[in-house]
Amino acid sequence: MRYSRAFIPTTKESPKEATLASHIFLTRAGFISQVAAGIYNLLPLGKIVLEKISRIVREELDRVGCIEVQLGFVTPAQMWRDSQRYEKYGKELLRFNDRKEQEFVLGPTHEEMMVELVKNRVTSYKQLPLNLYQINLKFRDEARPRFGLMRGREFMMKDGYSFHADYEDMLREFHLMEATYRRIFERLGLKFKIVDADSGAIGGSGSKEFMVLAESGEDTIVLCSQCDYAANLEAAKRRKPERCDLLHTTGEIHTPGLTTIEELSKFLNRPKSDFIKAVAKRAIYDEGSEIVLFFISGSDELEETKAKNSVNANDLVDVSSDELSQMGLVPGFIGPIGLDWVRFVVDEELKGRFGMVGGANKVDYHLDGIAIEAAGDDIVFADLIAVQPGDACPCCGAPLEYSKGIEVGHIFQLGERYSAPLEAKFLDQHGKARPFVMGTYGIGVSRLMAAIIEQCHDERGCQWPLSVAPYHVAIIVSNIKDEAQQAYAADLYSALKESGIEVLWDDRDERFGVKMADFELIGIPYGIIVGKNLAEGSVELLRRSDLSKE
Ligand code: ATP
Ligand code: MG
Repeated sequence: MRYSRAFIPTTKESPKEATLASHIFLTRAGFISQVAAGIYNLLPLGKIVLEKISRIVREELDRVGCIEVQLGFVTPAQMWRDSQRYEKYGKELLRFNDRKEQEFVLGPTHEEMMVELVKNRVTSYKQLPLNLYQINLKFRDEARPRFGLMRGREFMMKDGYSFHADYEDMLREFHLMEATYRRIFERLGLKFKIVDADSGAIGGSGSKEFMVLAESGEDTIVLCSQCDYAANLEAAKRRKPERCDLLHTTGEIHTPGLTTIEELSKFLNRPKSDFIKAVAKRAIYDEGSEIVLFFISGSDELEETKAKNSVNANDLVDVSSDELSQMGLVPGFIGPIGLDWVRFVVDEELKGRFGMVGGANKVDYHLDGIAIEAAGDDIVFADLIAVQPGDACPCCGAPLEYSKGIEVGHIFQLGERYSAPLEAKFLDQHGKARPFVMGTYGIGVSRLMAAIIEQCHDERGCQWPLSVAPYHVAIIVSNIKDEAQQAYAADLYSALKESGIEVLWDDRDERFGVKMADFELIGIPYGIIVGKNLAEGSVELLRRSDLSKE
């Protein structure tokens, strides 16, 4: 491509609200342009990179037998009602009616549509397994669209769905997808981790996320300093800390105005882990909501996703002290004993502990000598806590560390979650109708474009890996008034193109400095500078990765 004929509107101005390198450079270098919050146009360079990423994804999936389809973006709302997700998906689901008042949604993910496609077309175990995917638009009305392509409302996803006769075969495919995703992200030149992930309200243990390691990542991941253990904070486990509980005293203790663990710990001169902390949340459901208390050790923090899953809620929101008081609770002095009239969940690490201090449900009083088991007969226990750096690895006991990641892929053992309610069945070997056992696999294709730049940039701009770079080489003529330089560049341009190398020839009538700045901003891996040295028979090869010259 000749630069003078191209459409690459580079600019010095960063988008107003941009903080991330990828957002700034992809905009400034003319890859993307914003239309509305979370909605972007792809300019020619952006389109080329997106296609290259898609091609790598496609090649690796096709190699292991996945088959590409393309589903409608506009989805009848009834499918989402049938799968019982219409309400549950919340405000991210954009709902609308057509002129005949038929209800639709813009697909944020396509389990329902894919199940409907396969239903009644695949009817026998002999036609299984089947793995269908698409690379297509998604729409999620995200609460906070931001960071450019990283968290868009309209974005490009590869979503795949596999259909199996039994659980074992689904597991086999799940492992195959893990290996395939690994190859895809390696080909994209990314440093990433595969982590245990939250499976949401669907439950089950089989969900893994692919995290690109980057300071700017929105996800916190927990890594072991010694072994391979890696998990999203939302799903991370730790080895249960050893506690030597002591029975100091029992009964009420006067704690005037002391409502925080911090204050209580100082006042009683006891470690925070001796206290039972109450965290109140409002759990939101399809119909209505309810206040729930979560009891955890005073030295821990509540992990909201774990808490949400423990009560099967769509969402958890904060509650005010007033709301708690109106209910008859005593904010600051809430404890588990004598609270059988409120719904509560207890962190499983509190099981078997004794001599703890918790609120007495009475102003200015706490209770000492508590064993949580005294709080009732059928207490609900669940893992509720956020693993902290320094906690012990659940596999090997070594200290755990935090790191930041960008989620670029998610693979998921679905089971019969969609096939059962949508009555998508096949006949097994014994002629019995059974719902498909399914897996689902996603890759954030447009988010990847941003994630790559988060890992591959310097202060001047993008540094594309060769596998997805918009062009392999740029030819930069130092003085276009110099006929010899121009003629040489023209020959070089043709020769490179003929050997299958993708070239951007900067033939613009611009100062050399301007062209170099654009080269650095756009981030093409190699530059060939045709300049004064041509008279002595040489040109310069420039590497964008380290700006070294040869
Ligand atoms: P997140 O936690 O980041 O919102 P998610 O768990 O909702 O992601 P999935 O439903 O698993 O995401 O979607 C599959 C993939 O699509 C994700 O791994 C991610 O790479 C990408 N993705 C999800 N939401 C967005 C978005 N708003 N913008 C761009 N890519 C997205
Ligand atoms: Mg999301």
